[in-house]
Amino acid sequence: MIQRTPVRIEARDTSHLPDKDPGTPENQSWQTILSRSVSSPEQLLERLNLPAERWFEGAQNGHDLFPVRVPEPFIQRMEPGNPNDPLLRQVLPVADETIELSGFVRDPLEENTAIQTTGLIRKYHSRALLMVTGQCAINCRYCFRRHFPYNDHKLSREDRDLVINALNSSPEINEVILSGGDPLAVNDRLLSQWVDLLDSVPNLKRLRIHSRLPVVIPQRVCDDMLAWLNRTRLQKVLVVHVNHPAEIDQPTRDAFQRLKQAGVTLLNQSVILKGVNDNAATLTELSETLFDAGVLPYYLHAFDPVAGAHHFDVSDHRAATLVRKMLETLPGFLVPKLVREVPGESSKTPIPVI
Ligand SMILES: *Cc1c(COP(=O)(O)O)cnc(C)c1O
Ligand code: SF4
Repeated sequence: MIQRTPVRIEARDTSHLPDKDPGTPENQSWQTILSRSVSSPEQLLERLNLPAERWFEGAQNGHDLFPVRVPEPFIQRMEPGNPNDPLLRQVLPVADETIELSGFVRDPLEENTAIQTTGLIRKYHSRALLMVTGQCAINCRYCFRRHFPYNDHKLSREDRDLVINALNSSPEINEVILSGGDPLAVNDRLLSQWVDLLDSVPNLKRLRIHSRLPVVIPQRVCDDMLAWLNRTRLQKVLVVHVNHPAEIDQPTRDAFQRLKQAGVTLLNQSVILKGVNDNAATLTELSETLFDAGVLPYYLHAFDPVAGAHHFDVSDHRAATLVRKMLETLPGFLVPKLVREVPGESSKTPIPVI
């Protein structure tokens, strides 16, 4: 049995944490914070006062498969000494990751089948995904990305031209989704060039960004980013990724506010994860906390059977029951759509709520 921590909505007291000296993230650039992310199981366990003798071996085995990576602002929202902290569970490798189970696969989405030109994935009628980087600011244990040896490869100038040509010759595409990895892991100079190119494609109406960075490093929403957001003629949508209400603290709210002031519509997608958010109270609180912070719930993704992440698995039946409970207490607009991505389908597939 996984012991669950109760939902915490009050601000956490982090004054006992050992990093209130001049190097605190508040005064650092996002690049500095990113480069100083915790990147080993030892560091993470030590940082959270968890006994290495109890947790280290499993964590190290998982780390060898997919390295630990957690930026400091996200760690600050965790409760020290609690191995079941819902934020920690998303990033701490565990021994179970090395167990192979049938049905849990390396590429559950068969992503490799829909590549239109290098960097451009087209599965749905009116929108295309542009993978600007394979990098992320955080390594989430449940992510299918754990099986792709993404490097920091950026698209060449030629690749970029091919992407723009493909978009220009597909008039039914009216929305480009910057994705990755995490598209905001790349610098604003490059993003600003992309946005200028996309602005020039007449059939595009919307620019969408799928990113976890404004959540895990709120400092990412900096003036350089706001500059290209303010400049583009396209309508802007940012889909963040928050799984638990404790992921939203004051710096995150401030970052969301800056985005809203730049005219960005904020949506959220979550993944249902055992031991993180697989109960109705947490999901309800998540919706309320998101809306307080200016974000509308969009999707709740059913769990993809990713090899090495089966310890997060929640059945579709259980997920549907939880969403049913949310409908009983929340207004309809705060209940996310429960979906699964089925290879070959023309959209995300809704899971009937029972
Ligand atoms: C999820 C996804 C989208 C976006 O789908 P929406 O339902 O519009 O949010 C677009 N393209 C691909 C390849 C996707 O996987
Ligand atoms: S793609 Fe999203 S879920 Fe996967 S590791 Fe990156 S931030 Fe986490």
